[in-house]
Formats: sequence, structure tokens, C-alpha cells
Amino acid sequence: MKRGSLFIISAPSGAGKTSLVAKLVASQPEIEVSVSHTTRPMRPGEENGVHYHFVSKAEFEAEINNSNFLEFAEVFGNYYGTSQKVVEQKLAQGIDVILEIDWQGAEQVRRLVPEAISIFIVPPSIDELRSRLTNRGQDADDVIARRLSEAQTEMSHYLEFDYLVVNDDFETALSQLQAIFTANRLTIDKQQSAQQVLMADLLA
Ligand code: 5GP
Repeated sequence: MKRGSLFIISAPSGAGKTSLVAKLVASQPEIEVSVSHTTRPMRPGEENGVHYHFVSKAEFEAEINNSNFLEFAEVFGNYYGTSQKVVEQKLAQGIDVILEIDWQGAEQVRRLVPEAISIFIVPPSIDELRSRLTNRGQDADDVIARRLSEAQTEMSHYLEFDYLVVNDDFETALSQLQAIFTANRLTIDKQQSAQQVLMADLLA
């Protein structure tokens, strides 16, 4: 069986990455999102093992020491990491795996898996980003300024990625993402094994 492909999707918060990825995965059965480990507290509506594996700092550090992470990074004061074993198992089963990770993790994965395909998602304007990062007048100016500056740090790495998707209209951004995944499945590398019988017949 042909191995699945590894995809990296990064974005600043406020770009709409999570909703886009959720819709993308629901529309294409051969793709799965890797569930990361994190030390950050669970947010309302989140489920352990679904959104993240929520672990303590000590548990996370034990995983680091056992070399269980494909990549890990500290983001906004918390650890986040991707399990090497789970990703490898999925790829071996022919499943395409998406890592929703930050630029630091993307850098590490690119070094270890040079054929990984990376996609960066940005919001359509700085005004739109500011408004997406603001909770209806409830945040102090310095909190908004800090979120904006963190988003700009993330976005400053966009040139390290293979694809750039602008999330202005959600459906347009979704179909652009779907196009990237579909095109990857149509490469000769993938089709050679997927269409083996057809090609043998056509060439007989
Ligand atoms: P949040 O806490 O809002 O879910 O995620 C915060 C940031 O951590 C996002 O930029 C997200 O992409 C990143 N992140 C989530 N999981 C991982 C991971 O496993 N590794 C790395 N490097 N970053 C991650």
C-alpha cells in the first residue's frame, strides 16, 4: 500500500484554521488530523483525546525524554507536541495526516520529513484579523496588541511554506485547501499504485 502524505497546516490565531481543517477532513475520508499533546488547560467544549491529549508538564517532559515526539514546541507558555508513533502508523496505513502546528513545529517536521507538504493560512486583512482577535469590546488594548503581535510573529514565517491560502470567503478557502489535497492524490507517485490495474490493462 502507498504511504499517506504528511501535511503541515499553520496559521496565526484568528485565521480560521481549525474550522477550515474540520470541514476539510469531514469532506475527504482519507485524511485525518493528528491529535497533539498539550500542557495547556482544557477550554470549555474541548474533550480529552479529541481536541488534544491534555497532560501535565511532568508527563509531557517524560514523553520528550522518551523521544516520543516527532516535534514539540513551547507556544504561548505551554508545551505542544506531536506523537511520532501515531503519525507513523497512520501514514503506513495509507492515510494522509494533517499536523495543525505552529511555525516552530513546522520547521522541525520539514527537517525530518522533507517531503511533507506545508500550507499557511492567513486572514484577508489586518483589520479583519484585529476584529477576529477581539472579544466584542471585552479585551484591554494591551491584550489585543499582544495577540496581534503574536499573530504577526507566526505570519512572518509564511515564506517557509509550500502553499498560502487566504481565508476571506470560507467556502473559497475550503475549496482551495481541497484542491491541494486532491492534486497531491493525483501525482504519478500516488497514482502509480492506485491505478496499477487500469494502467496494466491499458498497456496490455
Ligand atoms: P491552541 O492552544 O489555541 O489550540 O493552539 C495554540 C497554537 O499551538 C496554535 O498555533 C497551534 O497550531 C499550535 N499547536 C497545536 N498543537 C501543536 C503541536 O502539536 N505542535 C506545535 N508545534 N504546535 C502546536
